[in-house]
Amino acid sequence: MKKYEYVWLDGYQPEPYLRSKVKVTTDRTPPEWSFDGSSTQQADTEGSDCILIPVQEYKNPLFGDSLVMCGVQTSAREAHSTNMRHSASEIVTDEWWFGFEQEYFLTNPDGSILGWEEGIPERAQGEYYCGVGAANVKGRDVSEAHLEACLEAGIELTGTNAEVALGQWEYQCLGKGIKAGDDLWMSRYLLQKVGEEFDVCVNFHPKPQAGDWNGSGMHTNFSNEVMRSNGSEELFTGFCEKLGEVHDQGIASYGSDNDKRLTGLHETQKITEFSYGVSDRGASIRIPIYTVEHNWNGYLEDRRPASNADPYKIISHIVGTLTS
Ligand code: MG
Repeated sequence: MKKYEYVWLDGYQPEPYLRSKVKVTTDRTPPEWSFDGSSTQQADTEGSDCILIPVQEYKNPLFGDSLVMCGVQTSAREAHSTNMRHSASEIVTDEWWFGFEQEYFLTNPDGSILGWEEGIPERAQGEYYCGVGAANVKGRDVSEAHLEACLEAGIELTGTNAEVALGQWEYQCLGKGIKAGDDLWMSRYLLQKVGEEFDVCVNFHPKPQAGDWNGSGMHTNFSNEVMRSNGSEELFTGFCEKLGEVHDQGIASYGSDNDKRLTGLHETQKITEFSYGVSDRGASIRIPIYTVEHNWNGYLEDRRPASNADPYKIISHIVGTLTS
């Protein structure tokens, strides 16, 4: 018997939540399955069946045999309106590489951030980023167990670090084509499951703590074949200009409550403004020095996406804009 853990995205707005259930079967590959869409805001009670279409399979590092990322269809066998993967998969190819820098806060089940149980930490930001020591770092065991789980699953995390605020962390997740989006969603799923083992929750909100504390983003590094191997200054600045022309559409695709994070402070550009520049961490899009030093062959970093953004929407916006 095989144990498949099916994972999908529900219909909640503005951002979906991850859902899962386990199928036990003699099937050697995960079959299509169904679920009660009336319990996930994807159907009404009368026509409640939604279909789970397996789209990506991972070794399950925590339980059973496989993790199965699924796309959702209606009972009429059409892509569900909440299925952002469907439209992204139609325009992205594997020549597009994405490196997502996922930031997040770890919290207790009551919502308090790890290390903030007694209120605001006494010491301001400064000692926590890439810090060490029990007073400077909270939740390292979760971050490390998550990294191991993702690597075992076949999800390419390229690094992790403690972030600028106490209890805040980051990991970097690299993928090609639509699988980049699948991997990021599955890495979020694994993070929350690993957290269960430590009785710790994950807060993906872009600004969980108001005031002079960093928010959480999901800087998105991206490139295609020509950017990597046949680039030029004109190509890179042209791509930045193109993304700037549809800045508002980008912001609409880059996560809710992002206005609380993109204030012009804490290494961000204001949400109402668009800019780009070499090495500029106060810009909307940074042209990395790596790209310039490699004779304009490399990648770009879109610094606007929030930590709660849907990677499928990010992929659709970037690829859709730069290939039209
Ligand atoms: Mg970071």
